[in-house]
Amino acid sequence: MAKVKKKVKVIKIDLDKCNGCRACEMICSAFHASPKYASNNPARSRIQVIHDPLRDVYLPVYAGEYTAAECMGRDKYVIDGKEYSECDFCRASCPSRGAFKDPDSGLPLKCDMCEDDPQQEKPLCVQWCINEALTYEEKEEEVEEEVKPEDVEIGLKAMIDKYGKEKVIDTMARMSKKA
Ligand code: SF4
Ligand code: SF4
Repeated sequence: MAKVKKKVKVIKIDLDKCNGCRACEMICSAFHASPKYASNNPARSRIQVIHDPLRDVYLPVYAGEYTAAECMGRDKYVIDGKEYSECDFCRASCPSRGAFKDPDSGLPLKCDMCEDDPQQEKPLCVQWCINEALTYEEKEEEVEEEVKPEDVEIGLKAMIDKYGKEKVIDTMARMSKKA
């Protein structure tokens, strides 16, 4: 499949600079409230700070994809003398923990990089992090080109024109049995 360039948006996290103020959680939940800014509830934030003052751990993590099943990973990492569990770094909304789930509906929450109209100069959590623990980066990466539904339709029509509808339907039925 052909490779295409895609703009990838990333929030870089500097753990040494985070002091657990939770301004990022507050603004994220307010920005995504309905109506916008009408309320703020950190439990609805798409960035959550794992906070353990006893271990001096302040770890902001922004939500990624929903996953239907929990993974088996339970490794521990020691970084600069502080112990983290594998789950601490995980961005998934997963069945084994409460992070990144809407407290009312239970639906998964996912960071959308504050994409909105008009477009934000930077994601809100980055703008509100006065300690610069969060920084925003855009970079170009090569990814496999996605097949668009309209391309599939054009391809199917071309095959039907060439081989006839019956033959194409027959072939697809045989392929789906093998799949
Ligand atoms: S706003 Fe910045 S310093 Fe405050 S908790 Fe979030 S990431 Fe940490
Ligand atoms: S980029 Fe926007 S949606 Fe994502 S965690 Fe930050 S404030 Fe929330």
